[in-house]
Amino acid sequence: MTAKERTDPRIAIVGAGPGGLTCARILQRHGIAATVYERDAHELGRNQGGSLDLHEDDGQLALREAGLLDEFFRLARCDAQEMRVIDPGTATVIGHHVPEDDETSAPEIDRGQLRDLLLRSLQPGTVRWGAALDSVTGPDAGPRTLRFRDGSTVEVDLVIGADGAWSRVRTAVSAATPLYSGVDFLEAWFDDVTTAHPDLAELVGPGSAMASDTEGALFAQRSSGDHLRVYIVRRRPLDWMEAFSGPPQDTTGIRQQLLAEYSGWSPEVLRMITDNDGEYVDRPLFVLPAPHTWEPSASITLLGDAAHLVPPVGVGVNLAMLDAAELALAIVSSDSVDAALRTYEATMVPRSVDIALSLDGHADYLLGSDGPAGLDAA
Ligand SMILES: Cc1cc2nc3c(=O)[nH]c(=O)nc-3n(C[C@H](O)[C@H](O)[C@H](O)COP(=O)(O)OP(=O)(O)OC[C@H]3O[C@@H](n4cnc5c(N)ncnc54)[C@H](O)[C@@H]3O)c2cc1C
Repeated sequence: MTAKERTDPRIAIVGAGPGGLTCARILQRHGIAATVYERDAHELGRNQGGSLDLHEDDGQLALREAGLLDEFFRLARCDAQEMRVIDPGTATVIGHHVPEDDETSAPEIDRGQLRDLLLRSLQPGTVRWGAALDSVTGPDAGPRTLRFRDGSTVEVDLVIGADGAWSRVRTAVSAATPLYSGVDFLEAWFDDVTTAHPDLAELVGPGSAMASDTEGALFAQRSSGDHLRVYIVRRRPLDWMEAFSGPPQDTTGIRQQLLAEYSGWSPEVLRMITDNDGEYVDRPLFVLPAPHTWEPSASITLLGDAAHLVPPVGVGVNLAMLDAAELALAIVSSDSVDAALRTYEATMVPRSVDIALSLDGHADYLLGSDGPAGLDAA
């Protein structure tokens, strides 16, 4: 970039998810200022969800560019790479991956820990909390105006849409909207699993465990702090909860429905849907139509889920962080924002189109006899 652009902090990253924060961190490491606009009211505004496995050739690669790989390994849980496949009828382990002592291909980290790690690495004031973007307007060559829900506006030269599945930035360059995949994740949560749910802790082990009969699957995953999260995976209508069971708070009604759906499953495995603490959380899975491309713009680009929302088969966060690293490095090494976006999109768009096409309609894979082996947690 030119000296003028280097000193001009007019890059807006919308969204403080793993993608947006990684991009900001790598830019700052190279002396380029960026401001992150995040709709959450503050850092602790929302439960960040479960555990993520960061892969050597994308998520970890991005953390290396961010100078955070060593810190990641201080937090990461390598033993959580263990994966069990459980027979739903007998609760016996029928498939088992036990990681080698030195295995580091996909260690797990809590999503909240990853967010903290990235946030702590940024210069103070980088993230503007409570800034929910409403729209982006302005000419293709820039400047662009960001308008927030509180009515405030900001003018910038580059808008990076890292605002996830329902990206508002995307609407400025693409008419695509996410579609319901037909597959639903209902989340159940367990506290103090070792002491309060010892049988379940024993069944699941230190990492992940799944059971499936192709009609339904259960996917369990440990996270730090002795927590366990279970996804109850089924094909369902989008409005199933209202239509069938009443409100999400009706844990008894939902549980009765689940027990009917999973009849014939072993009582040990069914603990995953009957013994949970608190309410179920419904997470219907949406995907962007594939292939998703957009008209190149000289002042707007997308990364992560905003660009390519696919079923959760263990790639989403890794791709978001890889996109972020590649975009930041393209900005660092290009003469103009426009050139940087062309360089970045020349790699990112074909890669994400290939991946999305290979997964298109494959939310069913999450129910298959092989089960959601690639999946971790959001
Ligand atoms: C159930 C489930 C399990 C998953 N498991 C895995 C897994 O194991 N491994 C994996 O790699 N991926 C997984 N994924 C996918 C992964 O969560 C996403 O791909 C990843 O979080 C994308 O990162 P991102 O930074 O692009 O977007 P996000 O993480 O969605 O971050 C977007 C940020 O933008 C903010 N935002 C949104 N709208 C606005 C707005 N209008 N204004 C300002 N800010 C805004 C949001 O608050 C958020 O902080 C899973 C997804 C689901 C649903």
